[in-house]
Amino acid sequence: MSFLSLGLKPEIQQALAEIGYVTPTPVQKAVIPLIKAGKDVLANAETGTGKTAAFGLPLLEVLKPELRHTQALILAPTRELGQQIAQQIQLFAKYTSTIRIVVVYGGASIVEQMRALKNTPHIIIATPGRLMDLMSRKALSITNISHVILDEADEMLNMGFKEDIDEILSHTPEDKVTWLFSATMPKDIRRIVSKYMPEAAEIAVNKGGEMN
Ligand code: AMP
Repeated sequence: MSFLSLGLKPEIQQALAEIGYVTPTPVQKAVIPLIKAGKDVLANAETGTGKTAAFGLPLLEVLKPELRHTQALILAPTRELGQQIAQQIQLFAKYTSTIRIVVVYGGASIVEQMRALKNTPHIIIATPGRLMDLMSRKALSITNISHVILDEADEMLNMGFKEDIDEILSHTPEDKVTWLFSATMPKDIRRIVSKYMPEAAEIAVNKGGEMN
């Protein structure tokens, strides 16, 4: 199977060819069609399985660059992961219309992040604590987002972001689409799933990247 058969836009395929992605990984093969079909997705997948492209590529298909409001929120446990996600999506978007992405995280100047957010990014990538802080300062709005992605969700819970995630999700529209990626499936992940995405399609890949 190639990226062509996943039906991605030609401009995205052109970028993938340049990056050197030829064959989709198992998690990409499983997740991309579900996302394109508009479903909530729960993916049990670790780092290294190609999960960033599994959500990043179809996200570029569904975003509307011509709209000037924030459409997608990606929550990630650390600054490093947030920055990596942004870099990858920018590479995928090399030949699409400009997609504005802002990454916000703790331990850095909030004033600079507030300034960056004034330009209304299409995608906000955030660690949960800093996002809460920015929301309380009214520096951003997530009330119109159509897509929420929780990346390394189990890590975010391990880091104590459980209440923050609940609070953040409670400010997002009912009809959004949610994609959750997690290496493990503890009870609290199941609770998030049953509360916010009870109809999610579920996929699992093992350590070798093969489908379970
Ligand atoms: P991730 O699981 O998203 O952290 O990705 C792990 C690594 O695999 C990253 O370095 C990606 O650039 C790479 N990668 C992801 N998808 C593909 C693919 N379809 N073909 C080749 N490399 C890939």
